[in-house]
Amino acid sequence: MGVRAAWLRSLLGLALAGLAGVACNDGRDGPAPAPSGGRVTVVATIAQVGALARAVAGDLAAVRVLVGPGVDPHDHELTAGDRKAIDGAAVIFRNGLGIDGFLDKAIDAGRARVVTVTDGLALRTGEGGEPDPHVWHDPDNDRAMVARMAEALAGVDGANAAAYRQNAAAYAERLTSVDAEIRALVATIPPANRKLVTNHDSLGYFIGHYGFTYVGAVIPGLSTAAEPSAKDIARLEDLVKKEGVKAIFAESSVDPRVAQQVAADTGVRVVDTLYGDSLGASGSGAETVDGMLLANARMIAEALR
Ligand SMILES: [Zn+2]
Repeated sequence: MGVRAAWLRSLLGLALAGLAGVACNDGRDGPAPAPSGGRVTVVATIAQVGALARAVAGDLAAVRVLVGPGVDPHDHELTAGDRKAIDGAAVIFRNGLGIDGFLDKAIDAGRARVVTVTDGLALRTGEGGEPDPHVWHDPDNDRAMVARMAEALAGVDGANAAAYRQNAAAYAERLTSVDAEIRALVATIPPANRKLVTNHDSLGYFIGHYGFTYVGAVIPGLSTAAEPSAKDIARLEDLVKKEGVKAIFAESSVDPRVAQQVAADTGVRVVDTLYGDSLGASGSGAETVDGMLLANARMIAEALR
């Protein structure tokens, strides 16, 4: 099968998995299916992990994502439906690194295999020295994560092992192609303008991979839980002016008001639709990780060039 055909097949799988996801929300419940019969059920904690899992699962496994599109994972609370899905899953994919700590309360039974998909990645650290969970903003990390997911699915559903690996390889190719497209977009931004101010410190991996400079964040830190003080805001506004920052990037799942205020005070534009911790809604083109990366790169290039 050619790469294009494999990719189309994987897209079809995504659509089918999406439909299955809807069907799974009707309260259907029960033990994980035997690997040999029926579709394997997978739970993914956050949207990005879920989208990668769907790319790997295709139509062979049903993926349920606990944190929906546009929702801030940093303060997600488990629902009764989440707990049911967790209890019924053959495998649970989590990001780890604190962003899906809500899972900890539900997995003590140890019934499902829990795979932390970021294990083994080279992690950046935030200003406080803690590991940065927002790994999906670097396509190299996404490629490593789909490979890990394919092996985990092969482990619980050996009959389809080859297909999971093929889906992961096809998606890795897609990520490689998007990576090149993003580099071409970044090349259209004058080097002096490649400076990012985001709503919280969520884009570090993107910044590192594509050679941007991180100037600061409206909410200091890797979580959205912190509150910026008046002093923090004044310091950021000074930096924005001093560094000649062209735009402030708020995020689709975070309250943009303080970012808008910083932009107004410093006379720069604000883009408040960046995907930091979330993906787009179904049909937006940014409901996949590759689509999200490209959408972000287009918004950034358009605002900074
Ligand atoms: Zn975040």
